[in-house]
Amino acid sequence: MTQTTPAHHEGATTPPATGHATRRDPRFDAVVRAAVGQGLLGEGGQVAGFIDTEGVRASVGALHDAFSAAPEVLHTFAAKACSLIPVLRLPDRGMGCEVASPGELRLALEAGFAASRVVLDSPAKTREEIRLALALGVSVNADSLDELRRIDALRHPGTASVVGVRINPQVGGGSIGAMSTATGTSKFGVALRDPGAREAIVRAFRDRPWLTRLHAHVGSQGCPLELMAAGVARTYELAEEINATLGVRQVTSLDIGGGLPVNFADETVRPTYPDYVAALTAAVPGLLSGRYGLITEFGRSLLAKNGFIGARVEYVKDAGGRRIALTHAGAQTATRTVFMPDAWPLRIGAFGADGTPRTGPVLPQDIAGPCCFAGDVVAYGRELPELAEEDVVILYDTGAYYFSTPWAYNSLPRPAVYGFRAGKGGAVTFATVRDAQSMESIAAESGLAHVDALMERDG
Ligand SMILES: *Cc1c(COP(=O)(O)O)cnc(C)c1O
Repeated sequence: MTQTTPAHHEGATTPPATGHATRRDPRFDAVVRAAVGQGLLGEGGQVAGFIDTEGVRASVGALHDAFSAAPEVLHTFAAKACSLIPVLRLPDRGMGCEVASPGELRLALEAGFAASRVVLDSPAKTREEIRLALALGVSVNADSLDELRRIDALRHPGTASVVGVRINPQVGGGSIGAMSTATGTSKFGVALRDPGAREAIVRAFRDRPWLTRLHAHVGSQGCPLELMAAGVARTYELAEEINATLGVRQVTSLDIGGGLPVNFADETVRPTYPDYVAALTAAVPGLLSGRYGLITEFGRSLLAKNGFIGARVEYVKDAGGRRIALTHAGAQTATRTVFMPDAWPLRIGAFGADGTPRTGPVLPQDIAGPCCFAGDVVAYGRELPELAEEDVVILYDTGAYYFSTPWAYNSLPRPAVYGFRAGKGGAVTFATVRDAQSMESIAAESGLAHVDALMERDG
């Protein structure tokens, strides 16, 4: 293992002060060093995810504090943001869990959430899923009036489940189309501004005295706070209209979704939960008054900045005048960034083979992954200190929707995930959240049990 000093290159420049270019996150330097020192990253660990357990708890605390004026609020963890059972278990401040599939429901129950604290949202719930949720007492947000009709047929009058309807307030999209759920033609919820929709929703509540909740989730990442708040305001107004029309306070709770955007440009947390609460109460002054119970469903904002991916540089090469570092972090763990590099840029840190930060002059380098397609690059022309074989790169802000949702391309294994915390005297301790996927597991999920299934047979 050679530890080379960064060489001077023609065109090397000093790091720019801002932007994604060279923003190493010094908070995690000691963790990277310890991960390399303990062999979690290096020859025996080419790529892994890391979760700052105290950081997650602090983010959960900040969320609770921001909404503390509301007398009745259930904050749920959006399971898809980090679908790892030990991580879902982390917050110990009475969180709930938002799930959107039978698999996520199973994870929530394995993580120990009481059914009454689990909320099921999904646009394609089967009858079997609905039946199970109602039997368990999980809250269900119907995505359509047709789904409500299925619930009519399946619902036992004694169920403990709170049932709501998701609306699409159609307030418009944010900067990432794929993440905007409140556009005119979004697939989610009952499209509130479509002709006849308001009346149909009011009728749906009148016909079902047990229907007591409205749900909206305007989008994830890229949506301005004012847009999200406008979606909540439309939901609140609809609840008021339903209750006024029916002459009873039948709608008793509002599920306002998640979607607080995360700043991927540097280490500051912005916008904050208090910023969002300020935008919400500007749009809906009564929101925290207790007139309605509140449910939230945050994911990315609780986790993204509390996690990172570490990956080894296997080789470096030059091609057509471009420097390329071939690392083990590509589309299998940074899927969104690889396929939509402009929408999902990541900060990258450069570390030596011993886990200490690389310093010195920077040069533009492509940070590529291991997958066999040319676009498998997590950053193009990134100005970083020169990387060498066996160095380590860190992809920051990847605690949500990255290493926890890997992609099985090239039969690459799901990366290991470790939680970490700094102990007394700065020593860093790690706990395994998920082992790296084994070759046995890869073979098994690739049809090993049916190895002969397609062989020609006599008769
Ligand atoms: C994805 C999703 C969330 C979480 O969104 P974040 O941007 O991670 O906060 C919450 N609610 C619903 C319905 C979702 O689909």
